[in-house]
Amino acid sequence: MATRLPFISCIFAKNKQNKMKLSALKTGEKGVIVKVLGHGGFRKRIIEMGFIKGKEIEVLLNAPLKDPVKYKIMGYEVSLRHSEADLIEIVSLEEAKNLRAADVEEKLSCIEDNINDADEKPLQAEHQFMAEEADKRHRIINVALVGNPNCGKTSLFNYASGSHERVGNYSGVTVDAKTAHAEFEGYTFNLVDLPGTYSLSAYSPEELYVRKQLVEKTPDIVINVIDTSNLERNLYLTTQLIDMHIRMVCALNMYDEVEKRGDIVNADKLGELFGIPMVPTSFHSGMGVEELFHEVIKTYEMQEGVDPHYRHIHINHGHEIENGIADIQEHLKAEDNLRHRYSTRYLAIKLLEKDREVEQYISQLPDAEEILTHRNEAAERVKEETGDDSETAIMDAKYGFIHGALSEAAYETGKKKDTYQMTHLLDAIITHKYLGFPIFLFLIWLMFEATFVLGQYPMDWIDAGVAWLGETISANMAEGPIKALLVDGIIGGVGAVIVFLPQILILYFFISFMEDSGYMARAAFMMDRLMHKMGLHGKSFIPLIMGFGCNVPAIMATRTIESRRSRLVTMLILPMMSCSARLPIYIMIIGTFFAIQYRSLVMASLYAIGIVLAIIMSKLFTKFVVKGEDTPFVMELPPYRFPTWKAIGRHTWEKGKQYLKKMGGIILVASIIVWCLEYFPHQDKLSRMQQEEQSYIGQIGHAIEPIFSPQNFNWKLDVGLVAGVGAKEIVASTMGVLYSDDDSFADDDSYSGDSEKYSKLHQHIVNDIKNSGTSPEIAESVASLTAYSYLIFVLLYFPCLATIAAIKAETGSWKWALFTAGYTTGLAWIISALFFQIGMLFI
Ligand code: GDP
Ligand code: MG
Repeated sequence: MATRLPFISCIFAKNKQNKMKLSALKTGEKGVIVKVLGHGGFRKRIIEMGFIKGKEIEVLLNAPLKDPVKYKIMGYEVSLRHSEADLIEIVSLEEAKNLRAADVEEKLSCIEDNINDADEKPLQAEHQFMAEEADKRHRIINVALVGNPNCGKTSLFNYASGSHERVGNYSGVTVDAKTAHAEFEGYTFNLVDLPGTYSLSAYSPEELYVRKQLVEKTPDIVINVIDTSNLERNLYLTTQLIDMHIRMVCALNMYDEVEKRGDIVNADKLGELFGIPMVPTSFHSGMGVEELFHEVIKTYEMQEGVDPHYRHIHINHGHEIENGIADIQEHLKAEDNLRHRYSTRYLAIKLLEKDREVEQYISQLPDAEEILTHRNEAAERVKEETGDDSETAIMDAKYGFIHGALSEAAYETGKKKDTYQMTHLLDAIITHKYLGFPIFLFLIWLMFEATFVLGQYPMDWIDAGVAWLGETISANMAEGPIKALLVDGIIGGVGAVIVFLPQILILYFFISFMEDSGYMARAAFMMDRLMHKMGLHGKSFIPLIMGFGCNVPAIMATRTIESRRSRLVTMLILPMMSCSARLPIYIMIIGTFFAIQYRSLVMASLYAIGIVLAIIMSKLFTKFVVKGEDTPFVMELPPYRFPTWKAIGRHTWEKGKQYLKKMGGIILVASIIVWCLEYFPHQDKLSRMQQEEQSYIGQIGHAIEPIFSPQNFNWKLDVGLVAGVGAKEIVASTMGVLYSDDDSFADDDSYSGDSEKYSKLHQHIVNDIKNSGTSPEIAESVASLTAYSYLIFVLLYFPCLATIAAIKAETGSWKWALFTAGYTTGLAWIISALFFQIGMLFI
């Protein structure tokens, strides 16, 4: 288990200030240089001009909107473009003072004194003052973590900064950049965890995103995290980063597994060949992390090329391609405007790869036509000479380079124990044509069985605890609205929900275990074909399973789906997955109307209806609502790992937390609102049921009764539905109150016993039906039919407020949230009405 190193500490909120750029200095102002950003070629040129950290620079002439700007540095006059000066970080006198003031108030006065004291040499003191601050600034290193999915970037990020970002044995977990800070050897690191990518082509949003970050955010150092157990493929990305001429340190991660397997590689030699320090690491144990950060500092401070481990190499693509690159590069070099942002070699390679984004960028240049003509010629030549299109030829050349480097670094995969061998063996069984599905179904069954059976015990305890709390408060408080609010409203409402927490945690424990061990990826893989038939992707499968616990974390889990279209449709159909909040109402109604031997069947039928409708809706949505083609993407099958208990505990808790949040927020508020609507207007002399009928909520129920006449729901059932808009758990407790002056129905979580209160409820409902004019002989059957329609409606209609809010948050618009609310309710109405009306034909 990872123990955090003492040297690295989390320091948030610091370094929040915007860094000042040289371009912001006005005529006559001075500053001290902190660092030069941008790619290596640019930095080298600028540094050669004398822009070195700690040097003072003065603006001789900076006319707004006028290029270039004239500077004085080390006694020389030089001119730079605005766009170039934008990549030089400085500290001005004023800024230095502000920084110092922010540091410690009292220190400031002593500095001011120093400056004032030294009035015979004020300029020197001023310079020193700025230089000190510049040096402090210089000790802040911006580090970006780049690597393939699942190589351990987030693990490093968490380990170094003490954050708790989600790590997962499942691709796509990191979808946007997260930042945190770490400190080591007097330096501060601003870490950015980027999405995992296999390459830097313009195919997927992740790849474009990472590229954009690297060019626009200009990190000082990139830590390229490499899954050493898959060295060859991981180094491919490294070669592309080299093309970008980025300062880099490689973490040869998962070294523990590699050693176990018996692989041999000379990391030092490999580093020399690539011109990048390569540090064996294991982010599980923390092995190599100190050295890694040490190398980051060294690379940051070291002049390029002084040591073979810190140099910029050119991957040799063979002479045809290299000629093409040189030819294109020559024309690019004439374009002064792009040279500070991009390495021309990188752009030339990308052009040869027919990279669409770069083509677009180039096409805006004045010489675009000529450059593209040269590219086409070069590509044509490559094709003639290698027989491949230039894109493939470049890829082959890179793999050739890697292969060569690995042989030279004495790379040998071990024969001792192959973790992949185990994986292959397990995969042969788990994804077997005939065995795969039974195993899968068995595991899902096991998961639900454990959830409901094991969950029963803690559920009973919590239930008893909530009851005790209510009674205690009840016994010790004077009668009145406050007591009623506390006991019936808050404790009753929230208590009905909190009892499900253990079940949800158990369910999420299983899901986390399956995800972290790598099984979920296989399950998704197996479901992929089925999911495609629904217009979705295999990755949609996991959120859908999670939906049985609680829709809210499930909506968030759709983040793992790369395709926007699949993701959206998955969110839209998620409410059809019957979450555990719907259980109490199922239990109550099923217990009331169905004989004991049919109860499980009825319950299962509800889940099945939800799933079938989800499939149908998904087909409809992908066909008519969210159109467009899905971009294909790889379903990775990461090696099986036995997950750490700590990780599983954390992941289980993270998902459960969403549920608790929902309880503390929306459910609490909804409970109070429902309670108020029930309690007011209040008349003490009425019985509880009469009170309900004349209360606001009773009035609402009466008002909407006509809407539900096709389903034969009376006003009491309608009131339950209205209350359930906040959270479906509330349906049960509301009904309990309305029908029998007894609100303990919500606490019931087992339908195995024929309790007396069920027969009472049964009687009430059947009586209501008789009173509404149905002939007594068929009242029983009609009541059962109504009950089942009611269950269907509860299953399908408006998902709770928290789910709607989550959809809004994840899609970024109210449009889809409201659409979900609308279509689910409409669908619920239609299906339940159809069911009742058709059912009536048979009675
Ligand atoms: P990311 O996709 O690059 O962010 O990768 P993660 O940090 O999410 O890690 C992917 C998986 O690899 C997780 O299950 C980690 O626990 C595991 N992992 C990360 N580093 C190591 C390591 O050094 N050794 C081993 N054996 N597993 C690791
Ligand atoms: Mg990650």
